[in-house]
Amino acid sequence: MTNPYVKLAVPGVQQLKPYLPGKPVSELEREYGISNIVKLASNENPLGPSEKAMDAIRAELAESTRYPDANGYELKQALAARHGVDASCITLGNGSNDVLVMLAEAFLHESREAVYSEFAFAVYPIAIQTVGATARVAPARPADASDQPLGHDLDAMRELVNERTGIVFIANPNNPTGTWLRADELRAFVASVPADTLVVVDQAYAEYLDDPDYADCIAWLTEFPNLVVTRTFSKAFGLAALRVGYAVSAPGIADVLNRVRQPFNVNSLAMSAALAVLQDEEYLERSVAVNASELRRLEAAFDEMGIRYVPSVGNFVLIDLQRDAQPVYEALLHEGVIVRPVGNYGLPNYLRISVGTPAENTRLLDAMRAVRAGAAGG
Ligand code: PMP
Repeated sequence: MTNPYVKLAVPGVQQLKPYLPGKPVSELEREYGISNIVKLASNENPLGPSEKAMDAIRAELAESTRYPDANGYELKQALAARHGVDASCITLGNGSNDVLVMLAEAFLHESREAVYSEFAFAVYPIAIQTVGATARVAPARPADASDQPLGHDLDAMRELVNERTGIVFIANPNNPTGTWLRADELRAFVASVPADTLVVVDQAYAEYLDDPDYADCIAWLTEFPNLVVTRTFSKAFGLAALRVGYAVSAPGIADVLNRVRQPFNVNSLAMSAALAVLQDEEYLERSVAVNASELRRLEAAFDEMGIRYVPSVGNFVLIDLQRDAQPVYEALLHEGVIVRPVGNYGLPNYLRISVGTPAENTRLLDAMRAVRAGAAGG
């Protein structure tokens, strides 16, 4: 039966498809009656939270009857120091997702457009459609034209920018493809966009990259006042459940975002944990190091198995099964391993696999070998 309330919803929302999260462990346990499940489906940090963050949360718990600091003073100060900007440049969000939605709410409307790339992070179209703006999607770079198949094509994106464009969303690196843009090409793109169009560079996975060609775009803010950089504590900082992210922008943009921001959008446990993990350099270094070595290990194992993949720089890797990936996804579920199908991104032959701990990755690789052996046998 069709839902009668859909036609009552605002036009953008009528067409929306909800965000599809990774399958929760508890759901697989309920459905299949199995335990000892490995979840490599949501690009989470597999190491568990920083001890310092957990101590901070415990200490903060006793203050739970109080509203959090609505302005996030301490966390903003710490982030400002980390990035060498003034605290007035920081907007805190309930995850960086919240900041992306605030940007759409504040800078888009029915007669504006927003540009993003094919295969870009799924929250951009949701944020754009919700406010009734028009999405302009640039085709990704053809797979055979570069070493970054499925990557953002900045020339194609630039062609879609016009006087109606409110925001260009760029994921660098992108999820789910794992592709990334080099500093010189990204800088030239930002420089080419008119000053009254915002360029949002989503750097959710920035901490994982250690390449001189990868730009920490925050350094460009003085030159490009229409640039907004978003970051998160959900990935390398290991606090996905607590929902803390932020934007760094010109103070004027932060001021506008602050007008649409829900009061108390970041809770006090989350803020105290984020503040603590910022001071836990050892945790961040370990997270990045384990990810780097395990990503290489997964890629080497895929090479050995003859499985194609998109070389990644994030904490996940996209594999190309060259046929419908759904049966392999389901067979892996039966082995107790949850990965992420990406048919909703228009990539039905691919699976996205988050990098786990060494033990989790061994489980994944064993399960993949078992599934392939089963498929070959049957
Ligand atoms: N941007 C990208 C590219 C992502 O992959 C994600 C998380 N999947 C986010 C933003 C949002 O993450 P969060 O809201 O947890 O900060």
